[in-house]
Amino acid sequence: MISLGEGDTPLVKSNRLGEELGVPELYFKLEGCNPTGSFKDRGMVVAVAKALEEGSKAIMCASTGNTSASAAAYAAYCDLPALVLIPKGEVAMGKLAQAMAYGAQVIMVNGNFDVALDLVREFTARHAVTLVNSVNPNRLEGQKTAAFEVVDDLGDAPDYLFIPVGNAGNITAYWKGFKEYRLMERSSRLPKMMGFQAEGAAPIVRGEPIANPQTIASAIRIGNPASWQSALDARDESGGAIDAVSDDEILDAYRLLASKEGIFCEPASAASFAGLVKALRGGLNLAGEKVVCICTGTGLKDPDLAVSALATKTIEVAPTVQAIEAVAQMPVE
Ligand SMILES: *Cc1c(COP(=O)(O)O)cnc(C)c1O
Repeated sequence: MISLGEGDTPLVKSNRLGEELGVPELYFKLEGCNPTGSFKDRGMVVAVAKALEEGSKAIMCASTGNTSASAAAYAAYCDLPALVLIPKGEVAMGKLAQAMAYGAQVIMVNGNFDVALDLVREFTARHAVTLVNSVNPNRLEGQKTAAFEVVDDLGDAPDYLFIPVGNAGNITAYWKGFKEYRLMERSSRLPKMMGFQAEGAAPIVRGEPIANPQTIASAIRIGNPASWQSALDARDESGGAIDAVSDDEILDAYRLLASKEGIFCEPASAASFAGLVKALRGGLNLAGEKVVCICTGTGLKDPDLAVSALATKTIEVAPTVQAIEAVAQMPVE
């Protein structure tokens, strides 16, 4: 009943990096092409539709940024108030700007994401306000459609799916989608699910919650994932892995995706490709395999980081063609 045009995002074949890495059949799913710039829209549209159906009068979420941007957009579209709790000082400017522009009430709490999510759970238990974090099962129902699209585009499930893991809702949703499509005989096989956390925020890899998760990749800066067990199930049932990548590996992947593929995603998104590079270095042979990396959100969310992390200098010159000729880097004529 409601839509801002979410889903149906492109699956783009790698033009350079796959060849260089020995993975000729490498694809990127560009979830940054969703209306608010991340995959969160797929689940949010269902969560908000269901909230309306139930007669809910308001929605609420805790967010590292993208969930609040998405909740705020669909709330605006449906004329519902949205309350968003964000951890103080941990949300990228572009995401905060979105929540404000869409008219959500933004409440900053002096605590990290995990603290904010606990508060939202308590608040929504006390008031007639619908919780729209991924603990809301309607979110995962929407998010699983990305797996359907991957299968539709490739003609079958890939051999491997690389995906960032934060609160672990998305890896859970993809696995659910792949299994359902398999049952419906829309695919003949299931992919190995390869999830990647940031090293400083890797509770699933370490096997215990992290009190103060740290990483440059704010969308996966989560110390106690809500969908922990279902992420383990996705890993184990698929014969995949959940591993960690360092911030340096994430930033390398972030740079490479932009400069060699034309894909500018946010740092958390780059954890999937960083994970692929790490797995290849560790000896995984993907030469004959179909591999999909999920690029979960757009790089435009955090322009400050791009400018500081990419550290490319701009050159200032006099406004003459000669001055430009003196500095322009181009092939010799
Ligand atoms: C939410 C988000 C993630 C993490 O997804 P989970 O479902 O929390 O594991 C990764 N990347 C981006 C861009 C996100 O917005």
